[in-house]
Amino acid sequence: MAEFSAIEWTTHTFNPWWGCTKVGPGCDHCYAETFDRRVGGSHWGAGSPRRLVKDWSGPRKWNAAAEHTGERPWVFCASMADVFDNEAPPEWRNRLWSLVRECRNLRWQFVTKRIGNAPKMLPDDWAENFGHCGLLATIVNQEEADRDIPKLLTTPAAWRGLPVRGRQGRRGAGRGL
Ligand code: SF4
Repeated sequence: MAEFSAIEWTTHTFNPWWGCTKVGPGCDHCYAETFDRRVGGSHWGAGSPRRLVKDWSGPRKWNAAAEHTGERPWVFCASMADVFDNEAPPEWRNRLWSLVRECRNLRWQFVTKRIGNAPKMLPDDWAENFGHCGLLATIVNQEEADRDIPKLLTTPAAWRGLPVRGRQGRRGAGRGL
């Protein structure tokens, strides 16, 4: 995991696991799948086991530093998976929510192509204890906009947005909703 993210709109990137399944045209050129394959992985597609990342120490380290400096870094979670993937084991997601709940000096951003799954996969105390978290729904066409923006708007979050693509197809901080 990189100490500082190469993605311009966030301070850090945290990947709790790798792997996903393509769910729409926005997945056609998934850089994460390409990278996974390049390093010998096989964690994409229905039925392909996801890979849990061993080292989850980064966020606690960033959180402790943020407490010291008073600055609140942005954390993009996750660039090598979709947190709301049906095939990610629920216990991994529960472990992630525990970490996020603990690291409240960080501003977490969850970017998903599965915003419809969020209400059933968010922790029970999301409204009370996750005021340092935002949800961004990736949308690439009008059909997805019609389907997913209403879902995003009805899912509670401290902030919500739509990632926008910048030069070289990288995702940007997005438009707030
Ligand atoms: S949802 Fe994201 S990580 Fe998953 S296949 Fe699509 S682009 Fe890749």
